[in-house]
Amino acid sequence: MNVYGYTFEQFYELARNFHGYPAPGLLLGGYMVELARQHLPEGTLFEVLSETPKCLPDAVQLLTPCTFGNNRLRNVNLGRYAVVFYDKFTGEGVRVFLDAAKVEAWPEIAGWLFKRTPKKEQNTEKLLAEIREAGVSCCSVQQVRVPKRMLGKKSMGDIVICPSCGEAYPAMDGAICRGCLGEAPYALCAETAEEQARPELCAVLAEDAVGKTALHDMTRVVPGREKGPAFLAGQSISGGDVCRLHQMGRMRVYTEEDSNPGENWVHENTAVEALARRMAGDGVAWSTPPKEGKINFYPEHNGLFVVNRRALRAFNMVPDVMCATRRGDTYVEKGKTVAGARAIPLYIAKDRLRQALETLDEPLLEVLPLKAIPVGVLVTGTEVALGLIEDRFAPTIETKLQPFACPLAGVEIAPDETRAIAEATRRLLSAGAGLIVTTAGLSVDPDDVTLQGLREAGLDNALRGMPVLPGATALLGDVNGVPVMGVPACALFHKTTVFDLLLPRVLAGQQLTRADLAAYAEGGLCWNCNVCTFPKCPFGK
Ligand code: ZN
Repeated sequence: MNVYGYTFEQFYELARNFHGYPAPGLLLGGYMVELARQHLPEGTLFEVLSETPKCLPDAVQLLTPCTFGNNRLRNVNLGRYAVVFYDKFTGEGVRVFLDAAKVEAWPEIAGWLFKRTPKKEQNTEKLLAEIREAGVSCCSVQQVRVPKRMLGKKSMGDIVICPSCGEAYPAMDGAICRGCLGEAPYALCAETAEEQARPELCAVLAEDAVGKTALHDMTRVVPGREKGPAFLAGQSISGGDVCRLHQMGRMRVYTEEDSNPGENWVHENTAVEALARRMAGDGVAWSTPPKEGKINFYPEHNGLFVVNRRALRAFNMVPDVMCATRRGDTYVEKGKTVAGARAIPLYIAKDRLRQALETLDEPLLEVLPLKAIPVGVLVTGTEVALGLIEDRFAPTIETKLQPFACPLAGVEIAPDETRAIAEATRRLLSAGAGLIVTTAGLSVDPDDVTLQGLREAGLDNALRGMPVLPGATALLGDVNGVPVMGVPACALFHKTTVFDLLLPRVLAGQQLTRADLAAYAEGGLCWNCNVCTFPKCPFGK
């Protein structure tokens, strides 16, 4: 059998020239490509997906007009020795795969494929002869359809210059190129001349600095007791200061009079103020002047702290600057520090500062105000409705609402009946509830019909279940645009649950998606401490 018009011997030579040696996988791949072509209608303009990066793509590139370079061959590494040929326009196609069951009929091929035969003992001649004889008979074919969204050329969009490395990259990758985001699998060896450059600063002996001006804040650290600036930038150094400087271990100091950093360098305080102006978004204030080169950020009001994670990461990938923040999407109080930023060296290169500023194309930090929405509490359970047991759910929720000053629009207690639950939901909405909190779970209890009741009332956009413990069976959705939070009964037992994580976000008007919930998985396991210290704990962070 021929391979795409070549005899086996001709293809063997082609493979050796292209691949360096006639790899068994490549020779088999030739037959797979041949088989795929046979199953496509004559004249089909096709593209190819390879399910492995090994050998098989080379058979495609060698025999067909589809290559990685022209983007008509793509690798989707599923780890299987299989290739998909499909119509470029309709997505209709065939998948050819190495059929493990059929391979067993060929001892040399099986020994090679399953690595049963140690490499040293492999008889290459016998193996190649078997591949030649087997041809397409160890492969199988399936019909497939590649979805529309995978078809057609993806436009790269605008090309811009990376502010960090200065090379061109697609703007859709973000404010900084992927290489500078840390995806490069290598380190650059030689420092560029620019990186070796230093500002011209001249340190003088402390006693020679008398009467001159300190160039930067100088910190005094007493281990375990105090840390703070003992000297401030711009402060004049007196004769009495010399001894203090010596005690701080400062034998030599930088002074304004002795330093001439040049116009290519920016003092840390000037630099960090420029950065802070771009970092702070709505609801975020910052302190000036900088202390020891650092600026802290504070909420202007209580609210939900939101971090632009993409921009924060891009910014911190630039050397010589830093910004550290509290965990985003959490409730923060006015005046408490939520972030700190600084330029790290005393003088930062002007170009470096420009790079850092360019990553800040959007503010990094924001505090969203929470709305004091009237809350309707819907308690479900026939045993509660009949008065057999006292409701503890409504008081629990009321306590949790207090810090956010949300008034109660009403409390409804409904038996476990779909219609009663739907009606109670509607009554809460008419009473002006802007948020409904209910005991709905995803319980398997046959009496638990809360979810059906909510559906009858018009529940929409429901997200059921979240990767948080406690709180796995929680529910989030809306009825007529009014958010609904289903809180599992665990809220009656555990002090802190998924409800406490999500409530501030819902009150801030965030529209949560499945991806937002999935992000809680790491850190979403409560430690169950004897004394709960939430939010001063890692739960949900
Ligand atoms: Zn770059």
